[in-house]
Amino acid sequence: MALIVQKYGGTSVGSIERIKNVACRIAKFQSSGHQIVVAVSAMSGETNRLLTLAKEIQGIPDPRELDVLVSTGEQVTIALLSMVLIEMGYKTKSYTGTQVRILTDAAHNKARILQIDESRIRADLDAGYIVVVAGFQGADEFGNITTLGRGGSDTTGVALAAALKAKECQIYTDVDGVYTTDPRVVPEARRLKTITFEEMMELASLGSKILQIRSVEFAGKYKVKLRVLSSFAEEGEGTLITFEEDKNMEHAIISGIAFNRDEAKITVLGVPDRPGIAYQILGPVADANIDVDMIIQNIGNDGMTNFSFTVNRNEFERTMDMLKSQVQPDIGARDVVGGDKIAKVSIVGVGMRSYVGIASKMFRSLAEEGINIQMISTSEIKISVIVDEKYMELAVRILHKAFDLDQAP
Ligand code: ASP
Ligand code: MG
Repeated sequence: MALIVQKYGGTSVGSIERIKNVACRIAKFQSSGHQIVVAVSAMSGETNRLLTLAKEIQGIPDPRELDVLVSTGEQVTIALLSMVLIEMGYKTKSYTGTQVRILTDAAHNKARILQIDESRIRADLDAGYIVVVAGFQGADEFGNITTLGRGGSDTTGVALAAALKAKECQIYTDVDGVYTTDPRVVPEARRLKTITFEEMMELASLGSKILQIRSVEFAGKYKVKLRVLSSFAEEGEGTLITFEEDKNMEHAIISGIAFNRDEAKITVLGVPDRPGIAYQILGPVADANIDVDMIIQNIGNDGMTNFSFTVNRNEFERTMDMLKSQVQPDIGARDVVGGDKIAKVSIVGVGMRSYVGIASKMFRSLAEEGINIQMISTSEIKISVIVDEKYMELAVRILHKAFDLDQAP
């Protein structure tokens, strides 16, 4: 007998029909002798609906009241799911975050879980109950309701698994696992049996929306075994997110290829090559609360250099305006140019640590297709390039093939 935490996302509980399906799955696990704690999201579309209501009243909704409002979505789901299970004859109890006592900090709309009091849940499990907990929510030390940021139910699931020392945290969603890349772009993409936490963290930060990045961080920190599975498929082992030392790890050099069109590129031309320039350019950008991703500064020539960086696409205009009006005159740069028709393509894999020539293979593959690389950045287990957005899909396909990720025919 094992204790398992299961988390079901919004599409998995999107209708009464689907809630009934989920209930059958939960019941099956319990009947085979496991103790089950379930964390659920709001029914699909519900959180967005509530956010829209709030915005009809306040352009920037009051953060505390917004949490009181959006946390109701999950409360609906826990009650409905519990009713179905009770109707099926299972002893079941639902809890909101406050009732469990999921203690968070006071950062409304993006709170972090600090502690979970698992005593009630434990007592219920021992008495044979299935325990259903509202995802996405908690309360601060004064009892104010807080929420954990979009996608936060994943983090609730992982945090419960950590607190209860569960054998595994299963995240049920509308895909049957983590893929080498998006199958809509590369039909040959295949499901990974395993992936490491570090790789998953990179993929999540590169735009993969499968798991909330904080949940992966949390699972890595507390050594929770996480598995991504489909709530629609009858069977399947999904993708296990695990540790590098795990013996069952696959041994591909590259695990996945990520891509996104979220960024825009800006270049400050003809800036004096002297100490303090990077700070004079990026200081005001940071002060305006604009995130910078890739940065390139060329070697100086005749005392001048060019300085490029990327920002989120929806901050592009604002950043350009600020640079032109404030920074350019301030540092005496020749011009500020930029564009948002770019895409970022990244290869991710812990194998990069032990193999050489990965970057050159990536660059050669792109060169052979005549794809120009505009910027490059690397981490220990990731190489990202910026290319013209019209070549994004082609780049993903050729890299997928070059790194032997295509499914065997
Ligand atoms: N219902 C919340 C959201 O839509 C939390 C979640 O689904 O994980 O973001
Ligand atoms: Mg989600």
